[in-house]
Amino acid sequence: MLDVVIVGSGCAGNTAAIYTARANLKPLVISGHEAGGQLSLTTLVENFPGFPEGINGPELVENMKMQAQNFGAEYLHGSLLEADLSKRPFRLNVEGDWMETRTLIVASGASARWLGLPNEQKLIGHGVSSCATCDGFFYRGKKIMVIGGGDSAMEEANFLSRFGSEVTLVHRREQFRASKIMHDRAKSNPKIKFLTNTVVEDVHDVSANLVTHVRLRNTSTNAVWEQEVDGFFVAIGHIPNTAVFKGQIDTDADGYILSKGGARTNIPGVFHAGDVQDRTYRQAITASGAGCMAAMEAERFLEAEGH
Ligand code: NAP
Repeated sequence: MLDVVIVGSGCAGNTAAIYTARANLKPLVISGHEAGGQLSLTTLVENFPGFPEGINGPELVENMKMQAQNFGAEYLHGSLLEADLSKRPFRLNVEGDWMETRTLIVASGASARWLGLPNEQKLIGHGVSSCATCDGFFYRGKKIMVIGGGDSAMEEANFLSRFGSEVTLVHRREQFRASKIMHDRAKSNPKIKFLTNTVVEDVHDVSANLVTHVRLRNTSTNAVWEQEVDGFFVAIGHIPNTAVFKGQIDTDADGYILSKGGARTNIPGVFHAGDVQDRTYRQAITASGAGCMAAMEAERFLEAEGH
């Protein structure tokens, strides 16, 4: 019988592991299908406090893991396939093996939605990004492209216009999903150009290990052309990783966990941490803070139950 199982090994899960391990609760962390979370997909992180020179995302998250392991946290490779949260102890199926735990911290994150282009994944961290806040700074004076027609795309295009020489916003339709205020703000920004009814066919150049140009297609005319680009930002939404808890943990219509205050979910003993609940901030530092909150709540919950 475990005291704490943490689902997810990004900033939220690792921080929850550090705190619960230091509280001598011997947490078990289920790494998940994207071990290390979103940070493992970035390069230099310059806004995590404590690193004046910045630190590489994968190194930062690996450091957190080692810190948790130093206090006795265990890590298990693999994914949670099934969960029975109908009674305590909770029962979890990890890659076919069932285990029991008194508390559960859900830090399974939200995965960026990608376009699914042939070269997209190969160029992540080399010009392809899903996070303007993380990577915008690297494109000072460069040509930037943002894909999407929602509020995220508008927000990212506006933010990126501070850095880039120009920002081209590419959207697959004529109408925008974005709120009027966000759309108007982007439209009135002289650095942002709009390309509507346009889809990306692929991003290049894999042989140079760098984004140099994209191939675009107009969906009305079927015209295909290439455009030079240095930074390619995909802002077509995120998918919270809550499918395995469907029907048990309360979520909103998009699948983000609904908080019951602090780090609490609708199920006593199940806590949330990080992007799986947070659709607004989505930063390494806020996810770490949320991991700390979930750990402290799990600790208090166990204490109150006499464990
Ligand atoms: P979203 O509203 O779901 O918009 C996603 C956009 O990406 C849509 O325009 C969609 O096109 C496009 N898209 C999806 N899949 C695509 C594909 N395969 N190829 C090309 N385009 C694709 O997502 P979001 O912008 O991330 O916003 C999520 C939520 O957060 C919204 O409720 C939003 O209001 C909120 N948000 C608010 C703020 C703010 O207020 N500051 C900032 C960011 C986000 P279609 O329109 O054609 O479907």
